[in-house]
Amino acid sequence: MLEVDASGVVVEIGSGSGSADDHAEVLIPGLVNAHSHLDLEAIEGAPRAEFTAWLRAVIAQRRTSDAGQRTLIERNLSAAIATGTLAFGDIDGTGATAEAMLVAGVAGRAYREVLGLAVDETRAEALVGEARGGRAVEVDGLSPHAPYSVSPALLRAAVRSNARLAIHLAETEEEVRFLRDGTGPLASLLADLGVLPDGWAPPRCSPVAWARAQGALGPRVLLVHLQHPCSGDLDLVASSGSPVVVCPGTVRWFDRGVPPVEELCRRGVCVCLGTDSVASNEGGLDMMAEMASLRRLCPSLLPTAVLTMATARGGEALGLPVGRIMVGCRLDALAFDDVPAGTTEGATDWLTAAAPSPDRLVTGGNPCSPNVPTL
Ligand SMILES: [Zn+2]
Repeated sequence: MLEVDASGVVVEIGSGSGSADDHAEVLIPGLVNAHSHLDLEAIEGAPRAEFTAWLRAVIAQRRTSDAGQRTLIERNLSAAIATGTLAFGDIDGTGATAEAMLVAGVAGRAYREVLGLAVDETRAEALVGEARGGRAVEVDGLSPHAPYSVSPALLRAAVRSNARLAIHLAETEEEVRFLRDGTGPLASLLADLGVLPDGWAPPRCSPVAWARAQGALGPRVLLVHLQHPCSGDLDLVASSGSPVVVCPGTVRWFDRGVPPVEELCRRGVCVCLGTDSVASNEGGLDMMAEMASLRRLCPSLLPTAVLTMATARGGEALGLPVGRIMVGCRLDALAFDDVPAGTTEGATDWLTAAAPSPDRLVTGGNPCSPNVPTL
């Protein structure tokens, strides 16, 4: 039982009654995609076997793609919203995402991407200042891209700015190798791009330890992927309070192993879900599909835990009041008219495994049905 006032704010939540029927109408919070790249597009024939080869394809496409960034972002947003995502943690490579989200009427944090392996302290301060200039607090964020694409000075400047951060971290074995001894496919790519600074030397530590050395672990720093933690890294992450976003569709794209979701959950880490970009996800930006993928990857996770990762945990990781149905908050939710289960547990199991399409999106201004059982 849910009551909403004329402005779309929840004023009362009664106890979800469940139902004696085999089928029920169910309302869940709007899904939170905690890691997207709305300004990337699918790449014809993109390689899957090796991350660095894929990265080369993405870089090549970004260099040749001249048109329609805003159109592309809007198209990606529309597709994601249609499948139930009502909030985003987006890596904003163009500076256009924040406004596009605002116009589309969804919440989100636009982590403005900053890059540069050769960036010194002075340039780092300037880059960070430019990236944050004039942005509203509710969408403000920075994404120092990854340990192989930002200098320690740039990451430290991002930390000093006190913006919320998102960083790709420990995504691949190539990244671990590059930081450990400065060799491998990433070293070749950076040499080919001519971006490795003169005299650069590997830090000879894990990606997580490298981030920690720059002060870049903590509740306001979202760690993206964490697919390849080294010994002791999960403890460092857990004690720091950094949330972690995993992207099951991208795990499947690259045929990676199981990410350490269960280990992280056991350590009390806030784990949430994202799609990454359409360039590395056959399922597109569909968070219902991500929940189903995660359940296949980690079958021992409870359906309730998976639903929470795609909703409330995402809101927590982004520092936004989204992914929950709460008194006093705008109602952003998904309605499913005919869920084949009469219990909350059964309904959650079905919703997270079957990847159904929502029958209706309920956003703040729109009316919703009374007497709807809620999960
Ligand atoms: Zn990403």
